[in-house]
Amino acid sequence: MARAITDPAELLRCLELPNLLADEEAERRFSMRVPLGFVERMERGNPRDPLLLQVLPGVAETQWVPGYHADPVGDGASIVAPGVIHKYHGRALLVASAVCAIHCRYCFRRHFPYTEAVARGDEWEAALGYIAADPTIEEVILSGGDPLLLADGQLADLSMRLQRIPHLRRLRIHSRLPVVLPSRIDDVLLDWLRACRLQTVLVIHANHPNELDDSVCQALARLREAGIVLLNQSVLLRAVNNRVETLLALSERLFSAGVIPYYLHLLDKVDGAAHFDVNEKAAVSLLKELRKRLPGYMVPRLVRERAGTPAKMPIC
Ligand SMILES: *Cc1c(COP(=O)(O)O)cnc(C)c1O
Ligand code: SF4
Repeated sequence: MARAITDPAELLRCLELPNLLADEEAERRFSMRVPLGFVERMERGNPRDPLLLQVLPGVAETQWVPGYHADPVGDGASIVAPGVIHKYHGRALLVASAVCAIHCRYCFRRHFPYTEAVARGDEWEAALGYIAADPTIEEVILSGGDPLLLADGQLADLSMRLQRIPHLRRLRIHSRLPVVLPSRIDDVLLDWLRACRLQTVLVIHANHPNELDDSVCQALARLREAGIVLLNQSVLLRAVNNRVETLLALSERLFSAGVIPYYLHLLDKVDGAAHFDVNEKAAVSLLKELRKRLPGYMVPRLVRERAGTPAKMPIC
């Protein structure tokens, strides 16, 4: 984390690219952050590198586009207790951390008021109290920001307290760290995960096959050995992964690393991300092509998130 690159000029220098590709105003609105290990997977001298496009602040972000909003998925309206977003039946999402190891330019939470939403310190009490009081909740999702940026002591304590809630069956963790900072998957983390009585699912986030190098596959193998179910979610992003060949290679590489492709999200219409949008028709035709070419279990579900619906909406 400490060695992550936060200066666009430095990133471009590393990649032997001209400085004018970055935009200061875009960077002021949403700062840049990218771990060195992720930068090493980018191609030198390629301004269109699919990993670079996910992290570099560009001028397109500063254009106002109708239909794009600060809170496109209506999370603000579903905050039921400090740090708890309860939108779907049986599952409560805990905003466990306000920070991420990488800043993804397309992120639907780029304008999310984390400081208000995140549960911290004594506020865990209220969050855990809400979950304990609702027996319909069977699964807690640790999300954020990135929940695996919490210290192991905090995570072990939190999982201990969740395990004591009798109606909980599953713990789900949504984290991009196994992909962007695989060294985070260390012995201490695996120890408290193994000790948890709840069935544990880890949903990673990779959008392009180049994100999954050997260091990532090794971290994933250790998680699998610890009995964790591994799923992946991706966002369909123009110029990053909107080609059939790319999505095929992503599914193949995920599955060979023991990860089931779970969701392929249509872009949430968040301010500053319109240049990543792939329209629904193009998305459906990509998915039909994937279905023809892959075993069913390697085809992700194409979904869109709509404020006020009882689940993520399947598109086809
Ligand atoms: C996506 C999401 C979930 C989990 O939905 P699944 O379809 O079970 O993956 C739960 N809560 C919130 C607020 C979500 O955005
Ligand atoms: S890691 Fe996830 S929450 Fe964090 S910026 Fe990227 S997409 Fe958003």
